Amino acid sequence: MAGHAEVKLVSNAMANTTRRKIMNLLLEMDLSKEDIGKAVGQSMLDYHLQILQQAGLIKIENNVASLTDFGRNFLESKGEKSERIEIRDARPVEVVEVKQLLPCIADTTKFRIIARMDPPLGGALKALEPLFPRGRYSERIGALIIQKGTVLITLYGTGNVTMTMIRDEAHAREILEELKRTINDAIEKGVTPAPKEKVRVDPMEVYRYLPGTNCRECGEQSCYSFAIRLVSGEVGLEKCKPLQEDKYATRLEHLRSLLAYL
Ligand code: SF4
Repeated sequence: MAGHAEVKLVSNAMANTTRRKIMNLLLEMDLSKEDIGKAVGQSMLDYHLQILQQAGLIKIENNVASLTDFGRNFLESKGEKSERIEIRDARPVEVVEVKQLLPCIADTTKFRIIARMDPPLGGALKALEPLFPRGRYSERIGALIIQKGTVLITLYGTGNVTMTMIRDEAHAREILEELKRTINDAIEKGVTPAPKEKVRVDPMEVYRYLPGTNCRECGEQSCYSFAIRLVSGEVGLEKCKPLQEDKYATRLEHLRSLLAYL
């Protein structure tokens, strides 16, 4: 990719807004052609993807597009990573599916749900962070994590949404509709509030989701001491062996999301 012709192919590929948006979406995660179309529009999508492929910036296998090593290096060297999708470029979302209602192990009277919002918001999710008083975008998992009372909502750039501690399906739909309204209002206005200070994670909140047996397998005196060390980043969740058991799977997932705030 060093010759004059190749350089021209790359600069031509990156000269177009839609193609730059596609590249930035793929920087967050691999996506199907369908999902890319939902995020950037179907107009000339095959053509844009072909231009990016010809420039060696992306590859498409089994209908899923991903950045090539060259494409990733190119974006990083150009600092394109900061050119995320702006909120004004995002399209209004719809709740298209509430996929599963599983018992929530943290509280068996509550449910855990998996839903989907379309089109996927990709990197624009980061711009939505200030809309939620207890919201935090995690680069690591490519998701916006929102705490609303005891409910923890994880909205992924792919459009998938998981929620824990839900009363019933009506409760889930109510939360999803409210989320949709907040997001679509911001998209319509094209602005979000200024970024706010980081949310503090309280060790007591973390403690509530640990097994609570004080078995000391982690080397700490109690689950609460372990929670303090987790919040300060000195230890990881893997140190609590009981937590890795199947029966604590939902708690573990909830804790992972909670600790992504840190
Ligand atoms: S290993 Fe887990 S359950 Fe046991 S004391 Fe440590 S945090 Fe609590």
